[in-house]
Amino acid sequence: MNEVPRTMPAWEAIGGAGRIRRVRRPVPEPGGGDVLVRIDSCGVCRTDLHVTEGDLPVHKPHVIPGHEAVGRVVALGEDAARFELGDRVGIAWLRATCGACRWCRSGRENLCRDAQFTGWDADGGYALYATVAEVFAYRIPEGLPSEQAAPLLCAGIIGYRALRRADLPPGGRLGIYGFGASAHLTAQIAVAQGAEVHVMTRGADARRLALDLGVASAGPADAAPPVPLDASILFAPAGELVPTALAGLEQGGTLVVAGIHLSDIPQLNYAEHLFRERRLTSVTANTRRDGEELFRLAARLGLRAAVTPYAFSDADRALDDLARGAFSGVAVLSMPDDDSSRASTVVL
Ligand SMILES: [Zn+2]
Ligand SMILES: [Zn+2]
Repeated sequence: MNEVPRTMPAWEAIGGAGRIRRVRRPVPEPGGGDVLVRIDSCGVCRTDLHVTEGDLPVHKPHVIPGHEAVGRVVALGEDAARFELGDRVGIAWLRATCGACRWCRSGRENLCRDAQFTGWDADGGYALYATVAEVFAYRIPEGLPSEQAAPLLCAGIIGYRALRRADLPPGGRLGIYGFGASAHLTAQIAVAQGAEVHVMTRGADARRLALDLGVASAGPADAAPPVPLDASILFAPAGELVPTALAGLEQGGTLVVAGIHLSDIPQLNYAEHLFRERRLTSVTANTRRDGEELFRLAARLGLRAAVTPYAFSDADRALDDLARGAFSGVAVLSMPDDDSSRASTVVL
């Protein structure tokens, strides 16, 4: 038996400049195949800004953002059997797919048109509790601290998928444009796998972090790379960098746009940007397989997120700091051990 309170503190999206506000919400009840998770860490992702600032259309008014949530299972839906109470799990961006369409049936569930997303279609991890379908939860390896596991759930997985889609040859040269949460994890994987990594990003702190992580060079965001690149990943949500990044590719190279949102791409010139079999592609969410592979790889490669910790009560400040690039690496919210302001409890 677990004592679960009836209500919990949470942050909800209000749209526009204020972004989020502190509220009390009922603790959600797990549906048939769901588990209820008592969250202890939740990563702060740029997509949370896109959701709360209106770059992405509203899917659920006043949604609780957050899709990098790690915590312990504290209640099971009546059909849930995959986890036991006390197991540590992660809740990621992709939270439901139809399971029947051609994309779902061919291992490309990230392209399911009926997919649902945590912290956009359904309430996420800027709260003390959240539910997730057990089949979309990730088992968190013991030994991986929650604040390290949280950023892997989106920043890590998306970067990993982008790297796979970049088709980098063994020992190849990889360009990384923008060096935030996802990029600094992706760079570590690429370096560990033997790639020569060149980072182009505007922040001096981010360039320092990149060099600390073993990249070959780090220069300004719009700089030409020092060598032609076999592949590049654009993490910055800046469409104006697409021509620059394409022009920096070796012939036959691939540019992967990793973001869910990108400002408009300026006009391209075929000869300068695409001819000689250069490719431009994107990343859309991830499959569960991507996530499971990444968690295995993270343990093997000793992947370390550069975490800037924030108290749960400072979630609004964490989003502000992300918006103005006040930290390098990734922000992670730590939930309080107990909710002393809770009004009443109920035993489930
Ligand atoms: Zn589907
Ligand atoms: Zn994200």
